[in-house]
Amino acid sequence: MTYVDAQGRQVEQPADLVILSAFQFHNVHLMLLSGIGKPYNPITNEGVVGRNFAYQNISTIKAFFGKDVHTNNFIGAGGAGVGVDDFNADNFDHGKYGFVGGSPFWVNQAGVKPISGLPVPQGTPGWGSKWKAAVADHYTHHVSMDAHGAHQSYRNNYLDLDPNYKDAYGQPLLRMTFDWQDNDIKMSQFMHHRMHKIAVAMNPKEIIGAPKTQGAHFDTTVYQTTHMNGGAIMGEDPQTSALNRYLQSWDVPNVFVPGASAFPQGLGYNPTGMVAALTYWSAQAIREQYLKNPGPLVQA
Ligand SMILES: Cc1cc2nc3c(=O)[nH]c(=O)nc-3n(C[C@H](O)[C@H](O)[C@H](O)COP(=O)(O)OP(=O)(O)OC[C@H]3O[C@@H](n4cnc5c(N)ncnc54)[C@H](O)[C@@H]3O)c2cc1C
Repeated sequence: MTYVDAQGRQVEQPADLVILSAFQFHNVHLMLLSGIGKPYNPITNEGVVGRNFAYQNISTIKAFFGKDVHTNNFIGAGGAGVGVDDFNADNFDHGKYGFVGGSPFWVNQAGVKPISGLPVPQGTPGWGSKWKAAVADHYTHHVSMDAHGAHQSYRNNYLDLDPNYKDAYGQPLLRMTFDWQDNDIKMSQFMHHRMHKIAVAMNPKEIIGAPKTQGAHFDTTVYQTTHMNGGAIMGEDPQTSALNRYLQSWDVPNVFVPGASAFPQGLGYNPTGMVAALTYWSAQAIREQYLKNPGPLVQA
């Protein structure tokens, strides 16, 4: 492999074994730049690197209470969160609803973030003294609820090398082609309405937040989690997956690629637990099988 050092020199680093673990997007980008695995072509539906790119499909509700209800959003811990898992994955019968997938819902008060942790009621100006007064009035009197939903992969949601834009080293940037599909909208609406009922039962003064509407497009200005998946997925067939079940490249067997890039679909749950579990699984295969007998661990 080659890399550019701090002095700007290109260095060649020979390696018996390469673990590509640079985060989902960067794993896919490095594979495309390095020519490891055939790039995905959405028109012919051939190729493997860049396919099955999936995101997460979230819905958020903010419930505002009167000043006699103190929610103390400045303190908390992730582990103190409360979740409802009844509408996640196949925990319920989807038959009559017309979509697949689901979401856990939760209230997870882990200490608010600057700016994004300062919701204000509808109609409040986005800046100035009226915004400041609304923040002061509502900061310790609101509850935030989230549904982090599953997201399926589609033929027309994919990653490839950008034909126009390059980085400072002249390398093409990674391009993301993505939009919401009917299943995503239906799921968002179903989940939002279930979560809304819980919010109403808490008897707040005001509730804000809405599900995706029919025909809605992906909007980069709206927070949609940072949980991207796929692009270099694990699978049984080298025609449709970049990696075998041990996260080993089908194409270049001394390259292993742990990360959410290996997920064939986006999960309702957040990704990192599964990223870690798959990495342990892969590391065990490297230690117990690959190092003793380097080569493909699965015959195609
Ligand atoms: C704001 C935010 C909030 C998140 N919250 C959650 C959450 O609540 N729950 C959850 O499950 N997940 C969450 N995630 C996702 C979580 O961070 C990822 O799932 C996890 O970090 C993936 O692990 P990884 O080892 O694949 O990649 P990373 O943890 O990103 O590690 C990759 C490492 O590779 C390094 N690297 C990249 N390129 C190169 C290169 N060319 N040369 C050398 N080093 C390189 C990077 O610096 C980085 O240290 C969140 C992510 C973000 C951004």
